[in-house]
Amino acid sequence: MTRTREQVLAANLDAVRARIAAATAAPRAPGVTVQKPTLVVVTKFHPAQDVRTLHALGVRDVGENRCQEAAAKSAELTDLDPALNWHFIGQLQTNKAKSVAAYAHAVHSLDRPALAAALNRAVVADFELRDREPLGVFLQISLDDATPLTAGAGGHAGRGGMAPAGMLELAECVEALPGLRLRGLMAVAPRGADPDAAFERLAELSAILQDSYPHAGQISAGMSGDLEAAVRWGATHLRVGSDVLGPRPAVG
Ligand SMILES: *Cc1c(COP(=O)(O)O)cnc(C)c1O
Repeated sequence: MTRTREQVLAANLDAVRARIAAATAAPRAPGVTVQKPTLVVVTKFHPAQDVRTLHALGVRDVGENRCQEAAAKSAELTDLDPALNWHFIGQLQTNKAKSVAAYAHAVHSLDRPALAAALNRAVVADFELRDREPLGVFLQISLDDATPLTAGAGGHAGRGGMAPAGMLELAECVEALPGLRLRGLMAVAPRGADPDAAFERLAELSAILQDSYPHAGQISAGMSGDLEAAVRWGATHLRVGSDVLGPRPAVG
């Protein structure tokens, strides 16, 4: 008997939730106290109807990485507002900042001052029009050793993110902007590398950031393949796509 899409998503979601619960109960790195990380289900490449189904299954946070797709889906699902938080997790051009600021609850991929300025302008313009919160932002750090160690390098060719050396400078820039609220750091473990080593490094950077900005302690890390390691190192937000939705359709 073939299962319905809803049954598939429900079973996958249960399995991922069980993995998170097991990882949370397992021994953690010293000092990690996060009780329950937020599961952000990454719905990129999958239709709005899947997001609706996930919402019915209790999902309240979804992640998207392509501007047009995310804008269209969020517009289709405004009836679920405000019970659904859209997280933008992809590389973002400054000319798309206004579109993203209109529906996003948080941007996980902030990697340069020009993008911070563009997002801030969009949110501040929005303050005049409607009652809204500042946009939460995570600074995306590249943990790839190939990233040049120069401040504000932004947008290198790998999995995105800025060199760690630029972190405090960008944090200071964000703190000065009324439309943005600094939440913490985001990273993707480098391909082929040990995720524990990557997330340990991210935890160290988070501690440095919190020395200056104690309120910015969130960590967005961990995907389908490495969420256990991320939980071990104190992730507060897990971005899980394929293990909930199945393989992504092969489109550009
Ligand atoms: C697609 C994506 C994810 C989810 O990856 P899966 O391996 O499908 O869980 C997480 N983070 C980012 C930045 C992504 O682009």
